[in-house]
Amino acid sequence: MNPIVIIGAGHGGVQLAASLREEGFAEKIVLLGDEKDLPYQRPPLSKAFLKRATQEDGVLLRGHGFYPQNKIDLALGERAVEIDPASRRVRLASGASLEYSKLVLATGGVQRALPIEGATLDGVLSLRTLAEARVLRERLEASRNVVVIGAGFIGLEFAATAAAQGRNVEVFELADRPMARSVTAETSAFFAAAHRKFGVKLNFGTGITTIKSSGGKVAEVFASDGRVLPAEMILVGIGLRPSDELARAIGLDAPNGIRVNERMATADESIFAIGDSVFHYNTHHGAELRLESVQNATDQARTLAKIIAGKPARYDRVPWFWSDQGDLKLQIAGFLDESDRIVLRGSYEQRAYSLFGFRGAQLTGVESVNRPSDHMLARRLLEGSVPITPEVVADPSSDLKALLKAGR
Ligand SMILES: Cc1cc2nc3c(=O)[nH]c(=O)nc-3n(C[C@H](O)[C@H](O)[C@H](O)COP(=O)(O)OP(=O)(O)OC[C@H]3O[C@@H](n4cnc5c(N)ncnc54)[C@H](O)[C@@H]3O)c2cc1C
Repeated sequence: MNPIVIIGAGHGGVQLAASLREEGFAEKIVLLGDEKDLPYQRPPLSKAFLKRATQEDGVLLRGHGFYPQNKIDLALGERAVEIDPASRRVRLASGASLEYSKLVLATGGVQRALPIEGATLDGVLSLRTLAEARVLRERLEASRNVVVIGAGFIGLEFAATAAAQGRNVEVFELADRPMARSVTAETSAFFAAAHRKFGVKLNFGTGITTIKSSGGKVAEVFASDGRVLPAEMILVGIGLRPSDELARAIGLDAPNGIRVNERMATADESIFAIGDSVFHYNTHHGAELRLESVQNATDQARTLAKIIAGKPARYDRVPWFWSDQGDLKLQIAGFLDESDRIVLRGSYEQRAYSLFGFRGAQLTGVESVNRPSDHMLARRLLEGSVPITPEVVADPSSDLKALLKAGR
């Protein structure tokens, strides 16, 4: 019997291999990863790892012994370059090829490149991999003036850390508010004020048009508002492009990531896909979308493990996400962009609040800052579809936990 081959040894790929064994799957598993490092967690790269609050061992997804103990053939530094669906073979950059019984694409994505002059200079950095994080951390420690392009999660997490380390940090963002694609206008405004207090300088509606060097290294940036600023390093965080080339090359549909059904299957019944690279129908959203989160990658992996092990399963989880910026923990569950009414619990002044989004009487999503218990509750409310009204949420004396218990 040919092995199941998983391409991509990140959050989704490693979880899938582990869950397959937990589900009792006994056949051979090959886990291919093009990075050389033992598979690791990405979230700490812009948080604890950047601050040297954790060592490299502390970011590993699983210990060294896990793979041999679970009979998972982990092949690192191996890039899959071509799939031949007719003979069920994957060709590797090394020239070797592998036959598969089932193939899983857990290929994640790559940071979008900046389409401007100077974007490839030494000191213009991005942050997706551990190898990049090592360079970024050293460069940060040696820099005085730091420019961040893009006020998304990664850019802002980095900016808060850099400012806390006494760096002069300027963030440039083309949109008119931070994290515009992912959070409400209220939370954008809250975070913009918080970052200014951290000492970060924010520039909205402004891009960087050119980067100039001196002695081969980045030296200054030209902004669209006419300013010229010194910079010894630049972090580019302008979003992710799904790694879906292998799927496209064999004619699989990939409008914004690889299209899969609720069983994580592509149109080829022996090829599946999970994680950041996937375009899937989300039952809670009522439409197809692509998500970039640890929850999405690992829960899709767990679902697929069940399916491959022959158990009934379909992917229908409520999405959730977190981001740590300075001393603020932002957590999001569900979809607030679908709501027509937002209800506040807690207070902006005390830097601990949640926004509950409703469409009519239906809770659609919750954004929490420094209120982790609200977030946990929100996930259960959304998963369980426990009825809850905006009026109840708006009343600070209501005990949401008790309501959840009663509703079950
Ligand atoms: C700095 C940073 C901070 C983050 N913070 C958070 C956070 O706070 N909360 C959160 O929920 N999410 C966070 N994320 C997002 C989260 O890490 C991703 O959603 C998650 O890693 C997706 O898992 P994945 O398995 O789909 O992809 P990945 O973990 O990216 O793994 C894909 C792997 O496949 C490899 N690969 C691709 N193509 C090939 C090929 N052809 N052959 C072999 N290997 C290949 C890639 O190199 C990569 O190693 C963060 C991401 C980054 C970069």
